[in-house]
Amino acid sequence: MSQTSNAQNPLLDFSGFPRFSDARPEHVAPAVRGLLEENRALIARLTADTAAPTWANFVEPMNEAGERLGRAWGVVGHLHSVMDVPEWREAYNEMLPEVSRFYAEVGQNLALFHKFKALHDGPEYASLSPVRQRILDNELRDFRLSGAELPDAVKPRFQEIQEEQSQLGAKFSENILDATNAHSEWVSDEAGLAGIPEDARAAARAAAEKDGKPGWKFTLHMPSYLPVLQYADDRGLRERMYRAYATRASEASKPEWDNGPLIGKILALREEEAQLLGYRNFAEVSLVPKMADTPEQVLAFLRDLATKAKPFAERDLAELKAFAARELGLAELFPWDVAYASEKLRQARYAFSEQEVKQYFPEPKVLDGLFGVIRTLYKVDILPDEAPKWDPDVRFFRIEKEGELVGHFYLDLHARETKRGGAWMDSARSRHRRPAGGMETPVAYLVCNFPGPVNGKPATFTHDDVLTLFHECGHGLHHLLTKVEELAVSGIHGVEWDAVELPSQFMENFCWEWDVLSGMTAHVDTGEPLPRALYDKMIAAKNFQSGMQTVRQLEFSMFDLRIHSDIVAGGQPVPMEKVFGVLDEVRREVAVLFPPAWHRFPNSFSHIFAGGYAAGYYSYKWAEVLSADAFEAFEEAGAGKGSLLDAETGTRFWREILAVGGSRPALESFKAFRGREPKVDALLRHNGMVEA
Ligand SMILES: [Zn+2]
Repeated sequence: MSQTSNAQNPLLDFSGFPRFSDARPEHVAPAVRGLLEENRALIARLTADTAAPTWANFVEPMNEAGERLGRAWGVVGHLHSVMDVPEWREAYNEMLPEVSRFYAEVGQNLALFHKFKALHDGPEYASLSPVRQRILDNELRDFRLSGAELPDAVKPRFQEIQEEQSQLGAKFSENILDATNAHSEWVSDEAGLAGIPEDARAAARAAAEKDGKPGWKFTLHMPSYLPVLQYADDRGLRERMYRAYATRASEASKPEWDNGPLIGKILALREEEAQLLGYRNFAEVSLVPKMADTPEQVLAFLRDLATKAKPFAERDLAELKAFAARELGLAELFPWDVAYASEKLRQARYAFSEQEVKQYFPEPKVLDGLFGVIRTLYKVDILPDEAPKWDPDVRFFRIEKEGELVGHFYLDLHARETKRGGAWMDSARSRHRRPAGGMETPVAYLVCNFPGPVNGKPATFTHDDVLTLFHECGHGLHHLLTKVEELAVSGIHGVEWDAVELPSQFMENFCWEWDVLSGMTAHVDTGEPLPRALYDKMIAAKNFQSGMQTVRQLEFSMFDLRIHSDIVAGGQPVPMEKVFGVLDEVRREVAVLFPPAWHRFPNSFSHIFAGGYAAGYYSYKWAEVLSADAFEAFEEAGAGKGSLLDAETGTRFWREILAVGGSRPALESFKAFRGREPKVDALLRHNGMVEA
């Protein structure tokens, strides 16, 4: 067996920043295999040890070995995302199954569970800090939810339920994809394309050419489907596309792609899982690790928001219907007219050019603005620094507070051919105190896919880009400004799933503030700041149909929660009539738009049947409410002091929310910051849903 030393393999050098300039794909397998072996050997030794587990002899070595693996594999995963060339992809994919298998093994390791339990129930527990107690509580909770405490006789069935669920989830997604791919609409006469934008036409023409046919081919994939529904003047084409889309993976598509029976089975299995674990229903299980406590509490939250938003949704719809009848000659508004009429109304009311807005957001000015917000709020310095990088375009910064190092971050803003799409924040290193002494400071990756500079001119960003940058930076600050010294709950680690978007969405709010925007805009040619009239249009467009959009999200959330708490399967697959019964009730309560009876929305609701969102779809609105309410504290400070970039409120936000990470319940953190429970009012106001 070959021992790879730190000096030979840069992926095994944990002394400083990742050595991106030295790491090669051939380093991956030996480094990762070595670390997996090290972790497995350690776990075997610790679980075989008959001495009582303590924090020092059990948790600390586990943490340290786990961190080395996490960091090395993190670098590989990061490179796979930002430098996706064949050699790195191959190196990553070669090790991915082995790494996944290891983590699955740890989660199922009962000997490990018994060690954690012995420590938790033993004499040392009472003397541990509340943060360490919380870490142990979380460990036991996760083991318990994966069935570790079940009687041996039930364990095989529990395992079977898990496997069956993941197979059904995978099949659910495949059915949607197959059904989506199976349908296309052909247009043979150019006149039939009236209204559809040039780029969507070109894509449709290319799709037809690919099939070796004349005319234009439209599909149910979003980039093809959406422009038709939004722009096609041909009402019949819109209707056919709408119907095909709405009945994907249902009995109306192809029997073998019907997701109905899968939904029935998934719901029954989740109920059985919940009951084995000692809960009344699956919604209760889903909420155990989340910030919300009970399904009743979530439902009450959704109802409160619905009651307040519905009058605005009704007003949105009345306006849309009146406009469609008056301007478009659509006496009756059918479901396939809604997106079309909405787009026409939006253009009539709030037309402004994205291109025009973009001229006011040159990259250097935006970055100055962003860093300025952070400096003012938290009284920190952001300084350029040096570290090995994966691409010359990447920048690297250090954050200091009164001369003391807080953390570092990489900024990789521009799209590259080898970079995965989207934007994200990831951890390269997390803050924690080493058992041997000394503090490891946090390091974060901030990655976006914005356009780069062209012909010596700085890149310019859309307002959406700016929102994205602030959003990811909010995650970054959550990770970097932590003061927690324990790895498992430091930064974004251990933060409840429905609270993790609080700091990110919070940052977005600044991009809608006139005072902030006017200071971070400068026309790329004239240097003029964003004109007020253009800003007013942007705000109005932001809130366009916010009532209708809100109740739609509430409909999805309530449906998701109620099918996982109200329906009783009793060991039998749930018939679809029951599922649709709940959907009808929810719609009567909150919706303003009522799809046709043949609509099969649940059959393609993959968030909850094939993703991780079961009884958790509400999290989107939940986190939005928290972030808007937290931001309101800055608005209140601004009203009193003249600027919402108030350092006193910023310091409190840092201390009570960003600094504590997952070390205490998110609700406690929120209340410590706001002095009360969260309220929905700020979000409604930010979305323009206030009585004038
Ligand atoms: Zn986010």
